[in-house]
Amino acid sequence: MNREILEALAASTLYDVSMTIKPGMTVWRNYPHKQPEFETTADYKNGGHSHESRLHLDAHTGTHLDAPLHMVEGAATIETVTLDKLVRPCRVVDMTDVADAVHAEDVAKARPQRGEFLLLKTRNSKDPAWDDNFVFVAADGATALMNAGVAGVGIDAVGIERSQADHATHKTLLSSGIVILEGLRLLDVPPGEYFMVAAPLKFEGVEAGLARVLLFG
Ligand SMILES: [Zn+2]
Repeated sequence: MNREILEALAASTLYDVSMTIKPGMTVWRNYPHKQPEFETTADYKNGGHSHESRLHLDAHTGTHLDAPLHMVEGAATIETVTLDKLVRPCRVVDMTDVADAVHAEDVAKARPQRGEFLLLKTRNSKDPAWDDNFVFVAADGATALMNAGVAGVGIDAVGIERSQADHATHKTLLSSGIVILEGLRLLDVPPGEYFMVAAPLKFEGVEAGLARVLLFG
C-alpha cells in the first residue's frame, strides 16, 4: 500500500462508534424479547476445561446494517451488500439541534453531495437509553436524501424511523439502494470527514447484520 496512506492511517484518530452488546443494553422499545442472551454451554466448573457460549441475538441488535429485505418483500439480504459500500469515506453531520425529526430542510442544510455516506449525529447521542421520542428521519427527509443521491445514511438511534405505519423512510432508502446503518454511537465524534470501516458479520439470507463500525479521522 502507498506509504503516505499507511502513515496517514497510523496517525489518525480511531473512533469505535459501535454499541457494546450485553444483556440490559438499549434495544428497540426496550422489549424484553429483543434483549441479547448469552448462554454458557461449557465452563470451568466441575472439571470443565473450556468456556463456551451460545449467543441469542436479534439481527438488529446494537450497531447494525439493514438490508433491503428488512422492509421490501423479496429484496436483497445482508451478504449481498458489498464492502465497497461500507468501507469508504463518510461525513459526520451535526444535527444535534434537530428537536424531533430530520426533515427535508435539515437534509438541505447538510448540503449532501451525490455519492456521499452521511452519519447523522443527533441529540440521541447524548443519552444512550431508550427514548420513545428519539430523533428519526422523517419521510420527507428520506426523500431529500434519495434526491440528493447519497450512497448511505447512518443514525445514532437503534432505528432510523419511529414505527411510521407505512415505513416510508426505510422503504424510500432501501428501495433506492441507500445503505442504512443504525445504532451508531457518535457522542465523542466531531462533525467532519472520516474513513469508515463498517463490517457486518457475514450471515447469509438475513435481513440485517450486526456490525463493528470504525471511523478513522
Ligand atoms: Zn434495523
